[in-house]
Amino acid sequence: MSPAEEPDVLHILWMNGGLSCDGESVALTAATQPSIEEIVAGALPGLPPVALHWPYFDFDSGPEHARDGFIQWFHRADRGELDPFILIVEGSVPDEGNKDAGYWSGFGNDPRTGQPITATEWLGRLAPKATAVMAVGTCAAYGGIHAMAGNPTGAMGVPDFLGARWRSKAGLPIVCVPGCPTHPDNLAETILQLLYQVGGQAPAMELDEALRPTWLFGHTVHEGCDRASYYDSSDFASSYGTSNCLVKVGCWGQVVRCNVAKRGWINGVGGCPNVGGICIGCTMPGFPDKFMPFMEAPAVEPEYAPLVRTLRGFTLRIAGG
Ligand code: SF4
Ligand code: SF4
Repeated sequence: MSPAEEPDVLHILWMNGGLSCDGESVALTAATQPSIEEIVAGALPGLPPVALHWPYFDFDSGPEHARDGFIQWFHRADRGELDPFILIVEGSVPDEGNKDAGYWSGFGNDPRTGQPITATEWLGRLAPKATAVMAVGTCAAYGGIHAMAGNPTGAMGVPDFLGARWRSKAGLPIVCVPGCPTHPDNLAETILQLLYQVGGQAPAMELDEALRPTWLFGHTVHEGCDRASYYDSSDFASSYGTSNCLVKVGCWGQVVRCNVAKRGWINGVGGCPNVGGICIGCTMPGFPDKFMPFMEAPAVEPEYAPLVRTLRGFTLRIAGG
């Protein structure tokens, strides 16, 4: 019996068949607090044994076993043969009913017909059987890039598809870890917390109104930004390449909830405004349309900066975040 077949194993089914760039899968390879290797190797105390079925490192998806070995875990979950399992969805959910023929996004084939099974159909089949569902990345959480105005796919987030008040069979809400891409350690840490929670080792995590963990998304970028003292002294950059506050070149950090400026990107290093990039609001419902154009901010005088913050607060509320 392989370790993944042991009866007390908690399975994680990672479906990256939605509309995405696989950015969350790439991000997870950079996580260090904890690393995904520590999670699957059982190197953390109290963690239940885990079998991760993830295209990025599942051996069944390699050339020796072919992709059918990987997809069988999804069929087994669909037949009710895997319990418990956590379903992680990467990528937005297209509206497969908005056209006469074809499909927007598939994930494996139906063994009876040889035809693709859509990612949307998998989500509809597996979500009711999952102990918990995670939507990782802003595409899966809120629609993201593919939900921009004019996109023909009708893309939406997992909470749009299942319902924002949806609960798993264990009574758990959808957990969203947005970001474009999501922060590596925010992602790994939330997976870890959910594993502890499902394994009875941790209390239910607190989520905000956009289904984000509050300990990660409870504060604004501005509150953790290295440049905040420049803002306080009304010392604003008018171009890139300086160390002062970027609000006048388009930074949304005052109203965007994200811990990247405080946490850094990898091993505490980086974080958008800390290293010279404006915050474009990628963790927010309504991103990107509600935050565009990215690099045009009103050319305000310092005394009007609080007004800009207030107006951006209105936008934030309209965006629902
Ligand atoms: S760069 Fe952005 S987040 Fe940083 S202090 Fe300025 S407005 Fe705030
Ligand atoms: S600081 Fe802004 S742009 Fe950077 S990851 Fe956070 S929300 Fe996205």
